[in-house]
Amino acid sequence: MSSSPFLLSHPAKANSIKRAAGCRCEICGSTGTEDELEIHCFSGEGEECPQSPEEMERSLLVLCARCHADLHASPDAVSGQELLAGARDREVSLRIRKILAFQPGQVSPPDSDIEGAYKDACASRYGNLI
Ligand SMILES: [Zn+2]
Ligand SMILES: [Zn+2]
Repeated sequence: MSSSPFLLSHPAKANSIKRAAGCRCEICGSTGTEDELEIHCFSGEGEECPQSPEEMERSLLVLCARCHADLHASPDAVSGQELLAGARDREVSLRIRKILAFQPGQVSPPDSDIEGAYKDACASRYGNLI
């Protein structure tokens, strides 16, 4: 149970989630910077990364380093982690889901489009001549 590979490869999303949670630990409430806070991810056995933003939001917690270490050390805390995530403010959980669901649009390089349009124009011009 470490940080999700998904969030590790999306540090901007991880930081946005910390901000959405108010930059505070969801167990002890202490505030911290984005660098100080950690995102704890838990999911079903053998399931590294849940699929939907809703599932992901329900299986992560924003924690300070101390609570994160405590949680991993204490089986009681681990059994309560789903309750903690489930008890999150509705507004905060909606914000986190939105962050998780956000995907930057696929931007095709404009150069190739212009080149294609240019070739088409040339081709049709030749077509007219012949
Ligand atoms: Zn804490
Ligand atoms: Zn963890």
